[in-house]
Amino acid sequence: MFETSRRSLVLNAAVAAAALGLDRSLAIAAPKRGRRTSDPARGFVRYKVGDAECTALYDGVWEKAHDPAFFSNATMAETKQALAAAGLPTAFVPIPITVFVIKLNNKLVMCDAGGGDQVQAYNPDSTFVSGRLMAGMNAAGIDPNKIETILVSHFHPDHIFGLLAKDTSAPVFPNAEIIVPAAEYKFWTDPATIDRVPKARRPLARRIQSVIPKWKNVLPVDGEDEVVPGIRFVSAPGHTPGHTAFHVSSGNEQLMVSNDTAYVPALCASHPGWHGAFDQDAALAETSRRKLLDRVIADKMMICGSHFPWPGLGRIARDGAGYAVTVSTS
Ligand SMILES: [Zn+2]
Repeated sequence: MFETSRRSLVLNAAVAAAALGLDRSLAIAAPKRGRRTSDPARGFVRYKVGDAECTALYDGVWEKAHDPAFFSNATMAETKQALAAAGLPTAFVPIPITVFVIKLNNKLVMCDAGGGDQVQAYNPDSTFVSGRLMAGMNAAGIDPNKIETILVSHFHPDHIFGLLAKDTSAPVFPNAEIIVPAAEYKFWTDPATIDRVPKARRPLARRIQSVIPKWKNVLPVDGEDEVVPGIRFVSAPGHTPGHTAFHVSSGNEQLMVSNDTAYVPALCASHPGWHGAFDQDAALAETSRRKLLDRVIADKMMICGSHFPWPGLGRIARDGAGYAVTVSTS
């Protein structure tokens, strides 16, 4: 998540700054609210997709204060209503962060890296927790040094800051090959992007440009290649220029790691036409969302998402004009 559409830059600049807190000079006083939900008792959940062993790892949660600019075409009342309809808290928007590790064909693959305890809740009515990933890995018996490949969906902080050490930006996974969508890499590493993105985004672009191109273990991949045996990139642009989902196939089973295509399903899957402030191109994001969700239904896949209710794995079906995601809680 976390991007503003060009059309509503002015309106959303404050929201973007709120979401990111990337520049310490932008940071304001500590949140006046404490956490209202607690971490799950166990930071990992394991399940099978064919022969693939998938582990959902809890990284944190953004308890996002409601704000009228969150969707350009839905009110705060409608947003609260949609959360209530899904049985979620309505006092804030609950946005958990889940990272998935997949063991398939003897390879250990991680999907995104969480926020690395480096994403702040700029809005004092919000809280943002991230960086629980390592504790979850430890509890799950996964050695981070054994991760061979990391697939990156897009370059927003809650997905890539876990790759960077907090103060030094040193690589946290120096032994892994980091496969990224070429379109995403091109956008964020283009020097011209710094002037094109909203002010609050510039520290993110600068941090990416000062670090990622220097790493020798980053591989930009174009299109929808099979990036590791059994896992294919699926282009789903709009949220960001190169936003990508991951399709996992093993035996007769398939899993779509949808990343931020339908980030909070109670909102974005139930109401696929709602245009979120954090979708860089909201119309394109909607097209990608409908296409991806339709495919998941047609092919009877399982689906998971970075911000689905913990532990992030579910099934999806059509529901009126939208889609309903049922997340299994075990
Ligand atoms: Zn996200």
